[in-house]
Amino acid sequence: MAIKEAEKIWMNGKLVKWNDAKIHVLSHVIHYGSSFFEGIRSYKTKQGSAILRLDEHVKRLINSAKIFRAEIPYTFEQIHEAIIETIKANNLEACYIRPIAYRGYDDIGVNPLNNPVDLTIAAYEWGSYLGKGAIENGIDVCVSSWRRSAPNSTPTMSKIGGAYMNSQLIKMEALVNGYSEGIAMDSNGFISEGSGENIFMVYEGILFTPQMSNAILPGVTRKSVIHIAKEMGYEVKETNIMREMLYIADEIFFSGTAAEITPIRSVDKSIIGKGSPGKVTKQLQDAFYDIVANGNDKYGWLTFIDDEKKIISLSSGKAAKK
Ligand code: PMP
Repeated sequence: MAIKEAEKIWMNGKLVKWNDAKIHVLSHVIHYGSSFFEGIRSYKTKQGSAILRLDEHVKRLINSAKIFRAEIPYTFEQIHEAIIETIKANNLEACYIRPIAYRGYDDIGVNPLNNPVDLTIAAYEWGSYLGKGAIENGIDVCVSSWRRSAPNSTPTMSKIGGAYMNSQLIKMEALVNGYSEGIAMDSNGFISEGSGENIFMVYEGILFTPQMSNAILPGVTRKSVIHIAKEMGYEVKETNIMREMLYIADEIFFSGTAAEITPIRSVDKSIIGKGSPGKVTKQLQDAFYDIVANGNDKYGWLTFIDDEKKIISLSSGKAAKK
């Protein structure tokens, strides 16, 4: 079993045993991919366990549902609190958190509007996403023959289950051809993102990343990287990126909650830069790990799990941070 089971899962307001966290086979989500989910990480920092950018993730979860006319029957604060409760109930320190809202059991036609919106939250231990040594040495990737959805088809700003059928095609094609990950283009042929990561490249000292309209998920890690890079004085351009720019880039890396900051050492077997993580990538990794490993909360991005005061303020209906 690949997943490391924890004890409890939060389901519609109750903590149930891991093996009892089940849904009916005729739930709408199973047939039509109608789920809205998040991937969040909690880190065991030197200052205690802390969730990275919890507010941003909860906000994106609610917005993912909103795009599909689904209202999650819990408030921002309640979801916030339930996530902390789930981690605490499982005595987890470093973990991956998977809140998922979905259209549940009622009607079975395509129309989801009569189905309930259920919410579950799981948390479990999870290691490196793109393989051992990926963060230190970088990975080999390819450009995918699959494209991301066109802007007037499946919305990419919404993190929905159904959209991950596209991600699976990108990922499988890469894996069966011996690569760790694939980079998809958007419907216009501009670079979009990996199957589960955003992409950045360094060219002539400038940091480039696809813009929102290039069919990307608005990544929370992407937002963090842009913030850190600007603080460091780098120019960051969110723009259309052509495929050929990948081959002549000085550095390329993926960003994501699971992937963190993963350097890319080759694309389509063409070596990027010196074939090892570049200077800018390393600087950004150092700044990122200073936050999540050392617990240096210089931007107010960490929610410390054992900080009782913050949890009390949550129960009283106020946001935990800021
Ligand atoms: N793009 C896709 C398709 C993803 O699945 C993810 C992972 N959530 C990302 C980008 C990165 O987003 P984040 O940094 O919020 O994890």
